[in-house]
Amino acid sequence: MTPPRVLIIGGGIGGLTAAIALHRAGIPAAVYERTPKLRDVGAGIILWTNAMKVFRKLGVGLAVEAKSTVLRLAELRDWRGKLLSTGDLTGLGARFGAPTAGIHRADLQAVLADHLGREHITLGTACVGYSQDANGVTARFADGREVRGEILVGADGLNSAVRSQLLGPQRPRYSGSTAWRGVGIIDRPEVPVGVSLLTMGRGSEFGYLPIGGGRTYWFATAVVPAGGSDGPAGAKPVLLDRFRDWYAPVRAVIDATPPDAILRNDLADRPPVTNWTDGRVTLLGDAAHPTTPHLGQGACMAIESAWVLAECLTAGGVEGLQTYQAKRLARTAEVTNRSRMLGKMLAYRNPLACWLRDRLFALMRKEADKLTDRLAGAEV
Ligand SMILES: Cc1cc2nc3c(=O)[nH]c(=O)nc-3n(C[C@H](O)[C@H](O)[C@H](O)COP(=O)(O)OP(=O)(O)OC[C@H]3O[C@@H](n4cnc5c(N)ncnc54)[C@H](O)[C@@H]3O)c2cc1C
Repeated sequence: MTPPRVLIIGGGIGGLTAAIALHRAGIPAAVYERTPKLRDVGAGIILWTNAMKVFRKLGVGLAVEAKSTVLRLAELRDWRGKLLSTGDLTGLGARFGAPTAGIHRADLQAVLADHLGREHITLGTACVGYSQDANGVTARFADGREVRGEILVGADGLNSAVRSQLLGPQRPRYSGSTAWRGVGIIDRPEVPVGVSLLTMGRGSEFGYLPIGGGRTYWFATAVVPAGGSDGPAGAKPVLLDRFRDWYAPVRAVIDATPPDAILRNDLADRPPVTNWTDGRVTLLGDAAHPTTPHLGQGACMAIESAWVLAECLTAGGVEGLQTYQAKRLARTAEVTNRSRMLGKMLAYRNPLACWLRDRLFALMRKEADKLTDRLAGAEV
């Protein structure tokens, strides 16, 4: 069987990983990315054991690890800093065969693009639609160009143009919370290397983790209406005020961030669907199974899906697309649903509900560990 030529729309973490996995399987794949430059913005990201295992299988694990910080402990605290529980990430890595790590998104994208070979990525080309027939699929781009392949993978993110054509246009589902993210250099004993932190407050959460190069990535959320902005002075003073009474390192971490480097995004997902494949066209990553970030598994799911896609195309050619979808439905839907539920709990504002939540999370460490083992320890 001649390997099908695959067109991948979107050069994010999902699209690049898919191209690497396909090339490794001997399947030619080309990436078409809308932005003229691979993103050097963006903050950090946690790559759980499940994603790191895929990277190792793809031969890019060492390069990813070299740019990241391996995490050994996950701390959960209330907003005053009281320790509620700790998760042993070193143990997780030892049990399941790869570490959990923090990395800057730009570093990850650069590692993936270099490993793939930048000649396989066409930048500054936005896909606006496709058509398919018995012999192939044609992608159409905003500049009028058309490219023919045998399979098309929409890895073009939450607002995917490919998804819009495949499933019909639908707006993402706002979670009720907005996130701010930043990266700073922090050298304080309360921010030890290798430790990730999540603090929970009333209608807000704040977390941080190291991402290599002495940098700390942080994120904050708040229950606010969608589509808001921070005003002329930017996000920094707003956040310093919002988190003024919180556990001391929280303010220090915000303070150490350059004001113009704080990103703001409404957090959204989509209800899971079961039909993201049509003939020669399929979706991958946030285009297929977007999730809110509360479990830190969105990109990890895209990375897993990339591996499964390559395996299924190797085994079944175009027909393998249906197998790929079938293999990914339950797991990705579970992540979307659990993450949304967790996000709702983190957004509690009622003091009694928050107190109960904090106690519950402190008491349920064993259950949380079991869930982490199942999500992050899985082998795809
Ligand atoms: C605040 C926040 C924190 C998060 N933290 C984590 C975390 O810690 N761990 C984790 O695993 N996940 C995390 N996630 C989720 C993660 O960011 C996404 O799941 C992941 O980026 C999805 O990758 P993707 O490649 O599918 O999509 P994207 O990263 O969105 O990439 C899509 C790419 O397609 C391009 N594109 C879009 N439209 C077109 C078009 N028409 N034509 C061509 N190209 C196009 C875009 O420019 C982009 O480069 C977080 C998300 C948020 C919002």
